[in-house]
Amino acid sequence: MIVRTALDADEATAPEVPQLIGGEWKGAQSGEWTAVENPGRKQTLAFVPASDERDVDDAVAAARAAFATWGRLPARNRGRLLLAIGDKIAEHHEELARLIASETGNALRTQARGEAASGADIFRFYGEVASQQKGETLPFGDGLLSYTVREPIGVVGGIVPWNAPVTLSSLKIAMALMTGNTLVLKAADLAPLAVLKVAEWANEILPAGVLNVLTGSGSVAGAALARHPRVSKLTFTGSTGVGKDIIAAAADRIAPVTLELGGKSPAIVFPDSNDAETVQNVINAMRFTRQGQSCTAGSRLYVHESIIDEFVLQLVDALGTLRVGDPLDEASDIGAIVNEHQHATVLSYIAGAVESGGVLATGGVSNPADRDGYYVAPTVILGAQADWAVTREEVFGPVLVVIPWSDEDEVLEWANDSDYGLAGYIFTKDVSTALRTANRLEAGWIQVNRGGGQLPGMSYGGNKQSGLGREYSVDGALESFTNVKNITVAISA
Ligand code: NAD
Repeated sequence: MIVRTALDADEATAPEVPQLIGGEWKGAQSGEWTAVENPGRKQTLAFVPASDERDVDDAVAAARAAFATWGRLPARNRGRLLLAIGDKIAEHHEELARLIASETGNALRTQARGEAASGADIFRFYGEVASQQKGETLPFGDGLLSYTVREPIGVVGGIVPWNAPVTLSSLKIAMALMTGNTLVLKAADLAPLAVLKVAEWANEILPAGVLNVLTGSGSVAGAALARHPRVSKLTFTGSTGVGKDIIAAAADRIAPVTLELGGKSPAIVFPDSNDAETVQNVINAMRFTRQGQSCTAGSRLYVHESIIDEFVLQLVDALGTLRVGDPLDEASDIGAIVNEHQHATVLSYIAGAVESGGVLATGGVSNPADRDGYYVAPTVILGAQADWAVTREEVFGPVLVVIPWSDEDEVLEWANDSDYGLAGYIFTKDVSTALRTANRLEAGWIQVNRGGGQLPGMSYGGNKQSGLGREYSVDGALESFTNVKNITVAISA
C-alpha cells in the first residue's frame, strides 16, 4: 500500500507518502517532505513530497510521452478504464471516506462518505459518456465534404483545492482523460492524501504517465505547473485571487483555461416558505455540515420581513441539534475547520461583525482551548450591513448573515450586488415567482427549493469573478478539454 497515514493500525509514526510521476511513486527532487495534519485532532497524518519545478518538469515530460498513445485510443476504450477506476473507488469506498474526513476535517457520516461516493459516480459518468465526442458535417453541397472532429488538447495541468479534494480531482481526471488528454494534477497542500489514494488505484488501471499527481505548495509547484510551456491547457479550482494568477500565467502562452473560483451566494426566502423543509434546505445550501467550507455556500440569506423572526427561531433550533466534533466520530454532524489559519480567519470575521454591531442569533464560539482541533459552532449573524466584510467576502466558514427584505426588486438588486456570481438559492412555492427570480439572479447555478450539491451531467461554473468556462456537463467537458478541427475536402466531379 502506497498511501498510508498515522491512523493505520501498523503505523507507529506518520509515514512518508510519495507522489505519482510516470507510473512510479517518488519523493520530491528537493528531498523535502511536508506534513499533512488532521485538523480534528491536530495530529500529523503523513508527510508528502515538497515538489518544485524539477518535479513538475518530470511529470509534464511523462504526461507528454503518454499522450502520443492515449490521445489516439478509441474514446470508448478510454471510457472503459474510467469505469474500472469508478468501480475500484466504490469497492474501497469506506477507506477513502476515512482518509477524506481525516485530512479535510469534514465529518465522515455527513460529508466524507458522500464525497467518496461522488468520486466513483463521476468516473462512472464520464466512462459512460466517453463515446459522445462527436463532430458535425456541414451542408456545402456535392462538391465539398466539410466536417469537424474534436481532438484532445495535449497535457492538461489541473490544480485543486482542499475543501472537496476527491470530488474535484475525480472531475478533472475523468474529464481530461475521457477526452484523450493526459494530466498533471497538483493536489491541495492541505488535503493531498485521498487524491493520492485515488491515484494509487487509477495507476493499477491506466497506462503509465496518463495521470500524474504532484504534491507541494501552490506558490512553488502550482505556479511552476501553471507557467509550464508544455502544459497546453489549465483547469483550476480555488480562490479568485489565485485564479487571477493562473489566467495571467496562461495568457503568456495563450493556453486555454477553465477557472472554478470563489463565491458569496445569495439565498432568498419568500413569505410562503416559512417551514421546516425550507429551514433544512437553507442549512444544506449554507453547507453547515461542511463547516461552510464550500464555494457554493448560500452565505447571504435574505428572508422576507413578514416571516424573519419565526424563520430565524426555527433555523437556530435546527442548528442546535447538529453536533460539532471529531470528523471521524459517527456522532459528529459537523467537523473541523481545515487548519489553524483558516480557523483564526473565520473567528475574525465573526468578531469584526460583532464589533460593528451585528447580533449573534447563535454560534460565534470556538472553544479551542478545550478541544483537540479547530472547531467553530454554526453561526448566524443578524443586523449585518451590505458593506460589511462578513456580507461581501467569502468567509469559508460556518457563518451565515440573515438580512430582511420587503421588495422583490430591491432584494434582487442586493443579491446581485457582488463581485461573485457562482450560485443562488430561491425558496418559494410559487412557480412564477421562482422562475422570475431565477431569470434575474446573476449566477451560473440557481437552485429552487433545493440546497444540495452538483450532479454529474449538469452544467456548472461561475459568472463574474466566480469563474470562466463550464465543467461537470458533457458539453462543458468537450468545450473545455478538446479543440475543434474543421476538415474541408473538395470532391472531384
Ligand atoms: P487556493 O486558491 O488557496 O488554492 C487552490 C489550489 O491552488 C491549491 O492546490 C494551492 O496549492 C494552489 N495554489 C495556491 N497558490 C498558487 C499559485 N500562485 N499558483 C498556482 N497554484 C497555486 O484555494 P483553497 O484555499 O485551497 O480553496 C478554497 C477556495 O477554493 C475558495 O475560494 C473556494 O470558493 C474555491 N473553490 C471553488 C470551487 C468551484 O467549483 N468554484 C470549488 C471548491 C473551492
